[in-house]
Amino acid sequence: MSAEQKKTIIVVDDLPENISILIAALTPEYTVLGATSQAQLMTLLDKDIAPDLILLDIVMPDCDGYQVCCQLKSMDKTADVPIIFVTSKKETKDEKKGFEVGAVDYITKPIEPVVVKSRVKTHIDLYRNTLALKEHIHQQEVRERELLAIKEELAELASSDPLTGLKNRRCFFEGAEKEFLRFKRLSASFTVLMIDLDNFKSINDTYGHAAGDLVLKAFAELTQGLFRDYDIVARFGGEEFVILLPETNCDSAFRVAQRLRSQTAKHKITYQDYRIKLTASIGIAEVEKADVDINASIERADNAVYLAKKQGRNQVIVSH
Ligand code: GH3
Ligand code: MG
Ligand code: MG
Repeated sequence: MSAEQKKTIIVVDDLPENISILIAALTPEYTVLGATSQAQLMTLLDKDIAPDLILLDIVMPDCDGYQVCCQLKSMDKTADVPIIFVTSKKETKDEKKGFEVGAVDYITKPIEPVVVKSRVKTHIDLYRNTLALKEHIHQQEVRERELLAIKEELAELASSDPLTGLKNRRCFFEGAEKEFLRFKRLSASFTVLMIDLDNFKSINDTYGHAAGDLVLKAFAELTQGLFRDYDIVARFGGEEFVILLPETNCDSAFRVAQRLRSQTAKHKITYQDYRIKLTASIGIAEVEKADVDINASIERADNAVYLAKKQGRNQVIVSH
């Protein structure tokens, strides 16, 4: 015998002799408790006894077994516990009713111990396996939910820049390559903005690296607030940012870039007791028919940034 805990069976029958016969048949394999009335059964259940199976008489003076069965099925504690009727009612309609009210089996008296033992074992095993299966499915669902959460977290980590929370360079290219294919297939135009913060090294040198980080975060927040959900706003690396604007031409992109530039210049970034001033140089390029990939427009936007730097910084240049 395994070390598994003994299963508990409750026998409900108004005649103590019947209970004795069933106790004799099912002991010592099972712990068997008797109840001669519905009230006694409920007292046992109230006492924290959780039966693994219930053997239930039908004709009892103070109650009706079918009705007791319905009550047990309606109670959380016993809703799934297998119930076997053990009765002198032999007619098919009685047996049919027994199954209709939720019993798993129907045994007729006189009690034949071998039959009772064998049916009880079948249903206890079935119940135990069902519970184990339910638990297994539950655990599986919990694991799947955990895995999904981990997967989402990993995907988020893999696609975002840890400092600013913006998309990272890899994620930008994923989205930008899709936009480039859309452009090739449907001529859905787009514009790329390259942004390089001005004299950023001197911010680090003057106020320290932590201040530089704070400025990067503040700029990222400001930028994110200015663009649409479907624009791809990403940190390209260091103090460089890139933005892809779907369905946008250079003129519209220029307007929004100017807004970003002027808001950046006006933005008040406080670090400790300092007020840090920040400006940005922005280059704009629209995708062109001759482009072989996304890098072509990025390169043109980058050249425009270079020009903006050369012409004095804090300005927007459109590549033509
Ligand atoms: P320019 O106007 O010509 O762009 O000058 P710049 O100083 O912005 O350009 P440069 O390329 O010389 O310096 C960029 C600096 O940005 C150097 C680098 O240490 C700093 N930087 C890059 N990534 C980070 C970061 O994550 N945090 C901080 N605090 N600084 C960073
Ligand atoms: Mg740079
Ligand atoms: Mg710079």
